[in-house]
Amino acid sequence: MDYDFDSWFVDGEWVRSADADPTAGPVRVRAASTREPVGSFPRLGVADVARAVGAARAAFDDPGGWSAWTPAARAEAMEDLADRLAAKSEEIGRLVSLENGMPISLSQRSEAHAGAGLLRFFAAMVRERSEEEVRVGVTGRHNVVRSEPLGVVAAVVPWNYPQALAFTKVAPLLAAGCTVVLKPAEETSLDSYLIAQAVAESGLPRGVVNVLPGGRDVGAALVEHPGVDKVAFTGSTAAGRAIAVRCAELLRPVSLELGGKSAAIVLEDVDLTSRVAEFREATMRNNGQTCHLSTRVLVPAARYDHYVDQVTDLIGSQVVGDALDAATDVGPLVSEVQRDRVEGYLGKARGDGATATTGGGRPTAGQGWYVEPTVLRDVDNDQVIAREEVFGPVLCVIPYGDTDDAVRLANDSDYGLGGTVWSEDEERAGAVARRIRTGTVGINGYRSDPVAPFGGIKGSGTGRELGIEGLQSYRNIKSIFPAP
Ligand code: NAD
Repeated sequence: MDYDFDSWFVDGEWVRSADADPTAGPVRVRAASTREPVGSFPRLGVADVARAVGAARAAFDDPGGWSAWTPAARAEAMEDLADRLAAKSEEIGRLVSLENGMPISLSQRSEAHAGAGLLRFFAAMVRERSEEEVRVGVTGRHNVVRSEPLGVVAAVVPWNYPQALAFTKVAPLLAAGCTVVLKPAEETSLDSYLIAQAVAESGLPRGVVNVLPGGRDVGAALVEHPGVDKVAFTGSTAAGRAIAVRCAELLRPVSLELGGKSAAIVLEDVDLTSRVAEFREATMRNNGQTCHLSTRVLVPAARYDHYVDQVTDLIGSQVVGDALDAATDVGPLVSEVQRDRVEGYLGKARGDGATATTGGGRPTAGQGWYVEPTVLRDVDNDQVIAREEVFGPVLCVIPYGDTDDAVRLANDSDYGLGGTVWSEDEERAGAVARRIRTGTVGINGYRSDPVAPFGGIKGSGTGRELGIEGLQSYRNIKSIFPAP
């Protein structure tokens, strides 16, 4: 497949950049596993951003256009788009794995189908629900409460799950009647071209979905463009904070899905070796590059060595390899920058007294940006490795006294996104899960579901995606009062 693109997709057309710096050349993407070239795309600038927002604005403001379509008509168009994406699913999964190093076994079951699945899910939801309800007031007056589309959305997403995170925004906002400028991360802009191709083939009107590949500068220009009505951001806490400040100045609604440092509370009755797949998935999914992972593993102090051994076996026995190899459990990190960052954290952890019981270095095989799956012991919750998001295949095992202490440690974090509780007694685990101050918690594993909202508190962001809450976040709730 040829992934060298010289145009980008706006207003239903493939166009050349209006203001690319001719001396800068295209952005080149290399395979995370091998460093070999995958493809390239043009470097865009502020005039391109304005063009994308203008197209989304015109599509939204068109009186007979997308935002005025019936929910059923929108749902039908979304299902058509889902079919186009589904036809490309295998290619989507493979390209994501090439770009960011996600093991193909994961990308083929998640990224490959995420877009089509979420489009169908929100199409069904919007079909079922009325956009208008009558609320009878205390004096018998009939008030009309309407859910109206919010407008033009700037959707800015990171590289770790480029398809799933794009459609976590695009599917509900389309269902709500909004239009969008989607800005993928530079590292994973190539797979966004497959989204653009599917949109071009589908029955969506021009300008409803525009795909603006590029980096931070393009994102920053998009976020503050006057034609944008809402910003939906997923990424780092640092970038989220900068975007929140700008949106506060503009009084622009913003949802922020940011980083995490979640805890796995391992209760003293559980045998982790009977939950291998679930534990790896909850703590190390996508080579540790997943926002909600339970990377602080809290275990009873009285059984510290026992659980350190179990975690070491589960994590250390994973197969490290090329992302495209079906046998690979752990692939490379997305980039050299990311690997340097993770290695910096490992050095810091050692300096603070932590010891690696498995991993801790670079595997010998492979040209890519690999770090061995690593378990650190002798960590306490105040050390940097326990407080900051590493975003790599690194777990730390921290002892706790009793269950109250475990809950206290889990909640003693600047973040509040995910978490897990592990016990043979699911009722007891559920009771502990209710005490954790985060947006989401899993019991004996972590498997999110589009019916349930997803998001965080504290440094992990604000707002919720997915579920009916996700749909409503793209709507303006308007009340029409009857004549007095
Ligand atoms: P990042 O913040 O550097 O970049 C994310 C996206 O934002 C990219 O598209 C980037 O180009 C853009 N961007 C960066 N700075 C910007 C700015 N000032 N204005 C506008 N756009 C800007 O994050 P990353 O390193 O690519 O992704 C990893 C981070 O994402 C991790 O912290 C991870 O926890 C977080 N994440 C969160 C969730 C969630 O749902 N909470 C999901 C996945 C990843």
